[in-house]
Amino acid sequence: MSEEPADLCVAGLTKQFTGAAGTLDVLTGVDLSMQRGDAVVITGPSGSGKSTLLYIIGVLDEPTAGEINVDGTLPLKLSPVEQAQFRNESVGFVFQDHHLLPQCTVLENVLIPTLANAKPASGIEDRATKLLERVGLMDRITHRPGQLSGGERQRVGICRALINEPLLLLADEPTGNLDQKTAESIGTLLLEVAAEQNTMLLCVTHSLDLAARFPRRYELTDGKLVQRTE
Ligand code: ADP
Ligand code: MG
Repeated sequence: MSEEPADLCVAGLTKQFTGAAGTLDVLTGVDLSMQRGDAVVITGPSGSGKSTLLYIIGVLDEPTAGEINVDGTLPLKLSPVEQAQFRNESVGFVFQDHHLLPQCTVLENVLIPTLANAKPASGIEDRATKLLERVGLMDRITHRPGQLSGGERQRVGICRALINEPLLLLADEPTGNLDQKTAESIGTLLLEVAAEQNTMLLCVTHSLDLAARFPRRYELTDGKLVQRTE
């Protein structure tokens, strides 16, 4: 019996940074498989390579070696133009700092990733509005980011990451700048919305509180993933 192929398969990923001070082995052999609907968290102290790994999986950075397969696509083999298209269509990012455009409204910010779509999908504004409604920001769609709290801005960031129905939702310290109560609600929301959208949620964080909410947990240790069971 052959197993279902994984929707995300990362194999033998390594990353070295070489500089004047020598070579730094940040990732030494990362393997990870996920299916649609899975939620995985990776913890590790500052400097352990969490962001590096997430950016490589999101094709924002290149590995030194290794393979990535996202639902049959090999993003590392694509041309830079195809990679940009892949990123836009298949990957949503949630960052620690929301990176919202201050001059645009909440609704416009959520729609930004759709500007690069080859075909403008009909009903995309409806989808943006529904997502904003889902995260409790219906009465804020014409506000600017500067008029929102940190937690509200992060909710907008989650909607923006989901607008193109990505296969992969990547979150880098999504609660890093929030107070504990807001962080808890954003953690819950992220997990719920990712499940509702049937996307793969891969989150990296140093927060053990956030990590404890995830069904599958790994620690990045010496450049490799070690599954955590406690
Ligand atoms: P984390 O997100 O876990 O805090 P990072 O992935 O940001 O860790 O960084 C891992 C290590 O790689 C750190 O030691 C960092 O200094 C180093 N690093 C990250 N990016 C670069 C780069 N572009 N050039 C050289 N070293 C880097
Ligand atoms: Mg980081």
